Amino acid sequence: MGRLEELNREIASCRKCNLGYSRTNPVPGEGPEDAEIMFIGEAPGFHEDRLGRPFVGASGHFLDELLEEIGLSRDQVFITNVVKCRPPGNRDPKPEELAACAPYLDEQIEIIKPKVIVTLGRFSMERYFPGESISKIHGRYKRIGNTVYLPLFHPAAALRQRRWKEDLREDFHKIPELLKMVKENPVEEEEESGSNDEYQQLSLF
Ligand code: SF4
Repeated sequence: MGRLEELNREIASCRKCNLGYSRTNPVPGEGPEDAEIMFIGEAPGFHEDRLGRPFVGASGHFLDELLEEIGLSRDQVFITNVVKCRPPGNRDPKPEELAACAPYLDEQIEIIKPKVIVTLGRFSMERYFPGESISKIHGRYKRIGNTVYLPLFHPAAALRQRRWKEDLREDFHKIPELLKMVKENPVEEEEESGSNDEYQQLSLF
């Protein structure tokens, strides 16, 4: 059994927070174990909870559309959320739920080792850009070692706001160039480019 599959089994029986008791299905995430790009959203919604799959509602269709625009399909990327079980009524995840679930995401990242981590919405942004505002830093990346972190608006939010939808589309189109940059310019593991405090405006376009 692969490490991701093992982890999925662990998540399937998890009751480390209350969401484990109200969910229909856990939604660990999906995609290949060697995915170069990982998308991290917020939490499963109604449809995701029913099917046990991430981003399958309207925002998922929009995500598929955006992936297609940059020449990718869903089976080439890994898609997950910061919490793996649906908060009742689609409320925001609570701090204790985020904390309880964080080790699963840590382990997914450790297994997959993505080159580009795309955060969708403010909860996943907060993991890598604490205290920041998504409307201020969306589309501005940070590179640490051989991983680039790119904060984007959540597709569900973008579907509600026309302006954010255009911003998301524009930011999304930076992904291929960022992946190329990190692959073509690897750094030694201990060497860091970028920092937690400084964001880089993409100057490749
Ligand atoms: S949300 Fe995460 S920590 Fe909470 S029960 Fe589900 S898998 Fe476990």
